[in-house]
Amino acid sequence: MEFWLDLNEEQNDLREWVHGFAESVIRPAAAEWDEREETPWPVLQEAAKIGLYGFEFLMNTWSDMSGLSLPLVNEELFWGDGGIGMALSGTSLAVAAIYGSGTPEQLVEWVPQCFGDPADPQVGAFCSTEPEAGSDVAAMRTRAVYDEASDEWVLTGQKAYATNGGIANVHVVTASIDPSLGSRGQAAFVVPPGTPGLVGTKKLRKLGLRASHTADVFLDDVRVPGRCLLGGKEALDARLARAREAQRATEQTTRPTGKRPSGQASMRTFELTRPAVGAQALGIARAAYEYSLEYAQNRVQFGRPIVDNQAVAFALADMRTEIDAARLLVWRAAWMGRNERPFTAGEGSMSKLKAGEVAVAVTGQAVQILGGAGYLRDHPVERMYRDAKIYTIFEGTSEIQRLVISRAITGRQIR
Ligand SMILES: Cc1cc2nc3c(=O)[nH]c(=O)nc-3n(C[C@H](O)[C@H](O)[C@H](O)COP(=O)(O)OP(=O)(O)OC[C@H]3O[C@@H](n4cnc5c(N)ncnc54)[C@H](O)[C@@H]3O)c2cc1C
Repeated sequence: MEFWLDLNEEQNDLREWVHGFAESVIRPAAAEWDEREETPWPVLQEAAKIGLYGFEFLMNTWSDMSGLSLPLVNEELFWGDGGIGMALSGTSLAVAAIYGSGTPEQLVEWVPQCFGDPADPQVGAFCSTEPEAGSDVAAMRTRAVYDEASDEWVLTGQKAYATNGGIANVHVVTASIDPSLGSRGQAAFVVPPGTPGLVGTKKLRKLGLRASHTADVFLDDVRVPGRCLLGGKEALDARLARAREAQRATEQTTRPTGKRPSGQASMRTFELTRPAVGAQALGIARAAYEYSLEYAQNRVQFGRPIVDNQAVAFALADMRTEIDAARLLVWRAAWMGRNERPFTAGEGSMSKLKAGEVAVAVTGQAVQILGGAGYLRDHPVERMYRDAKIYTIFEGTSEIQRLVISRAITGRQIR
């Protein structure tokens, strides 16, 4: 499908519908749930009731071949509020992992269980980060061992900072099967609802996104059926065999050009999800920009609205320019991902890098424009400023995005 900036009627309707929900349900609840630092279940229930949260909604959004529906939805939800937006979107991390590594049968079996049903919505969690393996995914210590007699996988280890960890209906957990192969020796597993041995810690206390549940997760001899290995055993065995073969070949040859071996499938999955995360950052940035634009037109100092000072008006001009630039990168990457265009320059990472850094800069500038008022909880820019910071940290820090882009454009193993 061609890349096109004009939204069609369906996309406009979708955007308006989600915007309406964000304005009438999310915004009025935002300060309360931020303060309470709890998952806003009533908002999830409301969203599920009107069909804005669930498997069907996700499928409809995904069926848009332009790729733009998902970023449109995310921008509006997070324009409503970052914390509640993440409470509604955290499940999509688990879904993306099932979609990225699972078979069609696994998708149909597990994704609906991540969401629950409209009368009783649930959440999903994706648990990859560990205390010793954050940016360095290859350092993962959680182990998965196959018990052939019972056709079960046994998972043991500790996961850190998992969104919805411990409260999710379905957890997707990554684990190492052959640590000598680094990230190529890893796989993802579904842990079905109620599986013994998986325990979440109490909710971690955070700078921002406080309505979203984040916890560490302990896995103590967690036994899951063989069919919970995403992608299936046959595909895993073939992948491990290829990785071992590649490792042998690498050991036997020197690579004087410093070029990296090609074909990291997991990188592509990350590149696919990054524009959706970038769109979340955009929503927070746009909300802060709009609020400070309005404020600057009403706040009078030295006998005139502060916006009449170039220093303030130019700051707003820069904020708007940066937001629009980030949106173009997000939309481009979303379109590329949906239309299976190769990310030859790390375009997915570019979109998340830019949007994350724009969100931090714009929310900071919004606080500045409000002056002392911006520092108080009476105005939402204080919360937006706290919420935005995560976008240079999770789903790959800004430094890791730059690593991905620099490797893609140079073809070299930049460290
Ligand atoms: C609110 C929240 C929600 C999260 N949700 C999830 C989730 O649902 N599932 C999940 O699996 N994880 C989740 N995470 C974890 C998140 O993805 C990690 O925190 C992130 O990947 C960074 O890892 P780290 O915290 O270990 O930082 P580290 O990897 O220790 O990095 C620390 C600093 O060193 C820099 N650095 C590290 N390596 C390099 C390098 N090679 N070159 C340059 N700089 C480098 C980093 O950029 C960073 O600035 C969440 C985290 C938070 C805070």
